[in-house]
Order: sequence, then C-alpha cells, then structure tokens
Amino acid sequence: MKNIGYYNGKTGPIEEMTVPMNDRACYFGDGVYDATCVVNHVPMAIDDHIDRIYRSAGLIDIEIPMEKAEMKRMLQGLVDQVEGDVLFLYWQVTRGVGMRGHAYKNAGGTPSIWAFVRPSQMSDPFGVYKCITMEDTRFFHCNIKTINLLPAVIANQRAEEAGCQETIFHRGERVTECSHSNVHIIKNGVLRTAPCDNLILPGITRAHILKICEAKGIPVVEAPFTVREMMEADEIFFSSSSNLTCRIGEIDGKRVGLKDEKTFGAIRDAYQLEMKNECGV
Ligand code: PLP
Repeated sequence: MKNIGYYNGKTGPIEEMTVPMNDRACYFGDGVYDATCVVNHVPMAIDDHIDRIYRSAGLIDIEIPMEKAEMKRMLQGLVDQVEGDVLFLYWQVTRGVGMRGHAYKNAGGTPSIWAFVRPSQMSDPFGVYKCITMEDTRFFHCNIKTINLLPAVIANQRAEEAGCQETIFHRGERVTECSHSNVHIIKNGVLRTAPCDNLILPGITRAHILKICEAKGIPVVEAPFTVREMMEADEIFFSSSSNLTCRIGEIDGKRVGLKDEKTFGAIRDAYQLEMKNECGV
C-alpha cells in the first residue's frame, strides 16, 4: 500500500478515512499524539515513543484502552503494510466520542486511537539550516504532547514564508524549543539544552543526544539559555525524531554557529550510527 490510516480498528487509505464528528479531537483538540520515523520498516525508538504517549495521556487523565505491547504490535502491523524505505508513523489517542461539552467525566465513550503511516524522507544530516525566532505564546503544558498545536502551526508557517526550516521559540530572553523540535547550543565544547520542565517537550531525540554526550565525554548543562547566548554559541542545532540533528547556520537572517564541527559532528555521527544499528541501513 502507498499509505494507511487507522481509526479504532478500521483501516484504509488515509485520504478515504472518515471519523465521527463527535470525536473530542474535532471540538477541543482533546488528545495526545506521538510520531517517529521508520527506516526499513523499523520505527525508531518505538518503546520510548510508546512510553511517552502513555505519559502524555496520563497527564490529561486519558486512560489508553490498549496495552503498550498491543499498541506496538498494532503500529508495526500498519508499518508493514506500507511500501517504502523511509516512512513517517504518527498516532494519537483522543478522549473519545461524545456530545460536545467541556467537562469530560460524563461525556461517555472510550478513548479513540488513530494512526497513519505514509512515505517520508530523512533530512540531510550534513545540511545547514535556517531558522527564525518568535515569542513563545504557547501555554504552560508544553511537556504534554497534545494535539493542540495552533501556535506551532502558525510558527511553522512563518518559518516557511521566510524560507526557513524551523522557528525557535523564546519566552522573553529564555529560549525554550522550536515549533516541532528541541534546540541545543554548544559553547566551548559544552552542550547546553533547556531543562525538561513544563516549557518544553521532553524530546526522545534530545534524550538520546544526552546519552551520546555522556558516552563521548561531552559535558552537558541542562539549563535555560538566552537568545543572546544562542546567537553567540559555537554551534546551534535542532533535533527531532523526523529530522534527527539539524545544524543551524542562520537565525533571523544573521549568520550564526558553525564553529565547532568536531563536537557537533561527533553527536550527529553517533546518532546516525545509532539509527543504522537499530534500522539496519
Ligand atoms: N518539541 C516539540 C514541540 C515537538 O513537537 C517535537 C517533536 O514533535 C520535539 C520537541 C522533538 O521531540 P522528539 O525528539 O521526541 O521527536
């Protein structure tokens, strides 16, 4: 198949799938999601992603009506049906179907499980990327991977209009993360990344990068950094499951970073190797 969609056990081509109007995703964005890249039909770090969607769901009081092992089997079953060397796997759990009403305890219905798999492409690990910055006007629950993504959607549109690949959010002076990735800086050989509080999503790629740094003896400081510190850093890069590590060479039209290829390259290459080992490329 070219792609596949899934909704509560029903499958079909994504373009032909329909869902009930009363699914609370439609009215409230009342749900959580996760996503990862798939290479050679192996979803990257799938256990980490499954753990995270259960954690996100728990934080908004959604009980996923499926065991983790069953979710993994179901997702792999979808992946196996789609052709292609590189795919994108997305899935979400919403609070379910019920007449519209903000409070949910008496809304009835069991949580709905949605998923799709479609062809994708890996971004160039040796590319140099451009970003814009934007005030982070999202809410204070950014640690939950919710399907409420309006500020991220707008931010990403602005980046695209500026000919850039990502938008770096900041709350005042403090850099938080990007519209759909985490952002890190390297200064004097030390990796600095925002701490996992309620202002950022705890990225799976971020966690893998920290383990790589530990293994390679690259010091890490998990502490907030400012826009100015970022602009003056030796290296700046963003990370996500679909783009892995992307080195930034321009922010708001100014040339930045690209001064410590050795440290950034060590992280990038170790992560590429990890992917090769996991997915057999
Ligand atoms: N931050 C945000 C807001 C995201 O949406 C994402 C990924 O979708 C990330 C960070 C990176 O997370 P991960 O590395 O788990 O893909």
